Amino acid sequence: MVYIRKRHWVTYNSEKCKMYLRNDFQFECAYCGMKERDNVIGEGLFEKDHFVSRQSDVAWNLDSYGNMVYSCCKCNGTKSDQNIEIILDPCKDDIYGGQHPHIRRLGAENHYKLYGVTPQGQQFIDDLKLNSRFYRKMRQTQAQNEEIRREIYQLLDKSSDFQPSGIDRKIEAYLENGTLIDERSDEFRCGTSKAGEDVYRVLEKLKERDIKYELLFADDDLDVRVEYCGNIYDCEIRVTDYAGTEKRGPIVKREKKKTWLKTGNVCGVLYYYKEQDIMDLYIYPNEERTEIVKLG
Ligand SMILES: [Zn+2]
Repeated sequence: MVYIRKRHWVTYNSEKCKMYLRNDFQFECAYCGMKERDNVIGEGLFEKDHFVSRQSDVAWNLDSYGNMVYSCCKCNGTKSDQNIEIILDPCKDDIYGGQHPHIRRLGAENHYKLYGVTPQGQQFIDDLKLNSRFYRKMRQTQAQNEEIRREIYQLLDKSSDFQPSGIDRKIEAYLENGTLIDERSDEFRCGTSKAGEDVYRVLEKLKERDIKYELLFADDDLDVRVEYCGNIYDCEIRVTDYAGTEKRGPIVKREKKKTWLKTGNVCGVLYYYKEQDIMDLYIYPNEERTEIVKLG
């Protein structure tokens, strides 16, 4: 599996960093494949990892988004405790999937162990201790959950008047635990970080105002596509606490405006003034000019 990191202006310390990482890494740990949906704590168990460690002596900015990996706290911990550089890059190498995977996942008959197809694959397993009891148990749970999910979807397909009370008890328990998560839903994609909750709040405000939108999380921090009065806008969502009477618009770097202009779409900032419950759209027809569209 090769993950694709979108181009983002955020860095390690930015509020939105984790939200973008989750989406780019498909809500799973890029090292061991643990999924948010397979544990009760979900996103809370996952962290932003520096692929090339901060201790490393390289010239480029290690806090840049291009060096960030979405990782479970277990893998991140192992990695930093030992201060090791990981031999396979989840954004460049086919680790578990793709054309020539370095690692094969074995099934129940082999106690959910991983098998290194290549020497690099084996080193990756050893460095991150991926055949320890913790990870084998995690993969077992994952396999069981997959099986239950399949059963549930089959039942949902078969019967339109689906009654959870009428089905197998383990499925019922599964539903009660709330783990039948739809990873495509806006709420899940926004997540539980402060930045994610802010973005989701703006989506709810758009819904309230009957404004059509689609969540993008595209390159260059363009979070959402909004359709308003027959026009389409690609926007970065920002929320401000500013409570004064004279409104100040958002500050956008010239370089960012340039990348937005190159997309050929009308791009800007959807700025939500929390205190006043006002949404203004700041768009940039060129690097110098700003236009404001009032969304109410
Ligand atoms: Zn992991």
